[in-house]
Amino acid sequence: MSIKPARTRVAPSPTGHMHLATARVALYDYLLAKRTGGQFILRIEDTDLKRTVPGAEQEIMDGLRWLGLEYDEGPDIGGKFGPYRQTERREIYQRHARILVDNGSAYPCFCAPDRLEKVRQEQMKRKENPRYDGTCRALDPDEAAKRMANGESYTIRFKMPREGVTVARDHLRGDITTENKQLNDYVLLKTDGLPTYHLAAIVDDHEMQITHVLRGSEWLGTFPLHVNIVRAFGWEEPAWVHLSVFLKPSGKGKLSKRDTSLAMKDGYSVFIKDMNELGYTPEGVNNWIALMGWGVAEDDVMTIEQMIERFTIDSLTPSPAAINFQKLDHFNATHIRLFTTEDLAARLKPYFTREGISADDSVLLKIVPLIRERLVTLDDCIQFGAFFFKDEVAPNPEDLVTKGLDAKQSAEVARRAYQILAAQPDLSHERCEPPMRAYVEESGYSAGQVFGILRVAVTGQKVSPPLFESMEVIGREKCLQRIKNAIEILEKM
Ligand code: GLU
Repeated sequence: MSIKPARTRVAPSPTGHMHLATARVALYDYLLAKRTGGQFILRIEDTDLKRTVPGAEQEIMDGLRWLGLEYDEGPDIGGKFGPYRQTERREIYQRHARILVDNGSAYPCFCAPDRLEKVRQEQMKRKENPRYDGTCRALDPDEAAKRMANGESYTIRFKMPREGVTVARDHLRGDITTENKQLNDYVLLKTDGLPTYHLAAIVDDHEMQITHVLRGSEWLGTFPLHVNIVRAFGWEEPAWVHLSVFLKPSGKGKLSKRDTSLAMKDGYSVFIKDMNELGYTPEGVNNWIALMGWGVAEDDVMTIEQMIERFTIDSLTPSPAAINFQKLDHFNATHIRLFTTEDLAARLKPYFTREGISADDSVLLKIVPLIRERLVTLDDCIQFGAFFFKDEVAPNPEDLVTKGLDAKQSAEVARRAYQILAAQPDLSHERCEPPMRAYVEESGYSAGQVFGILRVAVTGQKVSPPLFESMEVIGREKCLQRIKNAIEILEKM
């Protein structure tokens, strides 16, 4: 079966931090484009100048690249259908608004904002849905043209059909039928000559030859308007796919700003820019996002390549998806275990650098196999690996006193361990482990007690990667120095 190449686009507004929702649309867009041998496009929808935030566009581009979702066309790389920033496409929208006015599908509206507001208040009082009352819809076109020519300020409104129904087909929900009398004459072009989303997105999707529009289900409300606009131009419709909403982690209610700050307090985030800092990997994040609205098996661990192989829009689901950060941890940890040692070492290095630890590459390569199984996020490498690189460790004196023994007995264990290890030419784990185990036998103490003291002495902490393998990496001299130091601490207690 041959598949038609899809052209998909993510069309974020640069109005704040790049959110999971944008990443999810982009991921599905990317998968569909790659699956079908098509193109994935980034378009910046920046026509709401008041809401534009400086730096937000760059953050989107950086976020997509971090996720590995390279777009084929976009504002910074151009493409056949550019410009890809809507504020640079004003004339295109104005031209299209004129087409609709000329074919009777739209009209200029001269109503002043205060009159519109009054109408709205009255409608609310009557418990009606606020909508335009149609004053300028009834204007004689010649009269309207004259007023435009006189320089009066105006918007262009879409002339919604008033009778009958609009049937709009969503790929996941099927036909959605709306009575036209429920619909409103929405503004397409604002008084400043810039388009609203309704006009700009429809025109661009057509001009950029988009075949599949994937977007959030918050657009279902104005979906009938959008298909009416497409039809008024006489264009072919793209396939419309409205993705499910995100719910709070509890599953109760839509994700809110408050949930976002609560997540941050727990060390999580819904913003892509934070993911790297928190130690998440693009692989883990993509996998997590992929399954929030894609009905493959719950626990499917997939690389991007595997996702591309399996992706179809038919397997997307309209049911809401609760944000579950434990799943993010799960996918992140799972992908960390799949990286090669060299790859993981390179990814961990910046986290050590961030802590002021200069992690030598050859040591890093040795510790990766020791700590890998313990990492949920990449920055966990500090907790499990910083002691490898430090000149000294500073164990908590209480931790050196092992369970069931007092400080004196613990000091004796540490002294014996020192003697045994100092007698070895090197501290390879094959060499150290047997005599230490023999000592455990003869001492009558448990392995937990003896190795517990040794672990705290050489790593400075109670939880660490495998002890003897770790000592081998730390090296003879440093280990002996650290044990000596622990003995001194214990003797002073
Ligand atoms: N600019 C719109 C938004 O950020 C895009 C919606 C769409 O993808 O069409 O919500």
